[in-house]
Amino acid sequence: MTNRYSRQILFSEIGEVGQEKIRASKVVVIGCGALGTVSAEILGRAGVGQLKLIDRDFVEESNLQRQSLFSEEDAKKGLPKAVAAEKALRAINSDVELQGVIQDITWENIERLCRDGHIIVDGTDNFETRFLINDFCVKRGMPWIYGACVGSYGVAFAFQPKLTACLQCLFEQPPEIGTTETCDTAGILAPIVHIVAAYQVTQAIKILVGEAARAEILQVDVWTGTWRTIAARSARSEQCLCCGQHQFRFLEGEEKARLTRLCGRNAVQVSPQHSTQLDFQQLRKRLEKSAQVDFNEYMMRIQVDRYEIALFTDGRSIISGTDDFSEARAVYAKYIGS
Ligand SMILES: [Zn+2]
Repeated sequence: MTNRYSRQILFSEIGEVGQEKIRASKVVVIGCGALGTVSAEILGRAGVGQLKLIDRDFVEESNLQRQSLFSEEDAKKGLPKAVAAEKALRAINSDVELQGVIQDITWENIERLCRDGHIIVDGTDNFETRFLINDFCVKRGMPWIYGACVGSYGVAFAFQPKLTACLQCLFEQPPEIGTTETCDTAGILAPIVHIVAAYQVTQAIKILVGEAARAEILQVDVWTGTWRTIAARSARSEQCLCCGQHQFRFLEGEEKARLTRLCGRNAVQVSPQHSTQLDFQQLRKRLEKSAQVDFNEYMMRIQVDRYEIALFTDGRSIISGTDDFSEARAVYAKYIGS
């Protein structure tokens, strides 16, 4: 063991044995926005053996206030977040086996992308994906660490199958779109991201070294200085469709959403009906008369009317300039196909 991790090893709850366990572990971070980048950086510096970073989006200037692994250069190039995060972490710790994956996690790919992980750290920004992660983790008996922030407020909890309640024990359904505050409506303060991510990673590391994580929900408002923990062990329900009855309706695609509003932006993500592989050269020929088109190996940018379409090779697109589902679906159909 080099002395790279000496201060962490000196911490007696980790020690040499714990460090070896951290090194042998595989962590999947889903979502490389604010929480995901901060968590990934701490995990990478801690010496996790394998770190998979999954994100569907690309870096923009307005991310830089809180998304800690990204630079102005990444925003200028519009790099996919998974690629930019992998690149930044590679420079920080070459010991870690890193894999950036440019994908939207769905019921169709979660198994393939996450099955080799020991633990999932939640860096997503929506409840649909969290319910999917919950189904997957309960089914496999894998722990996952929930985290969410908006404004100056944050929540975190370590879901441990059989030991704690699952997400569906706590909330039966994802909240209706438009009913919860988002970064769009309430903004976000960077320090709360660091508090929530720090708590998430602490719980992840405890589990990785073989200790039980806290079975309490943490709620913090960093602006007012309010900290609260709520016991969640007793919230476990035998009636829960997910962990009690083993009905995994998010994992089985019954709840799939083809359209998603993106938090913090006037944008909608549209996913293709069927998985596909786009030929950007050909598509450019088709579009260049009516639109301004630019592409690299990862994505194509199409400027047309008042919309900017970021299109990925798997057919998924992020349409900026609207938050209306039918308008986004129409733009997608018009320029890319249905
Ligand atoms: Zn449950």
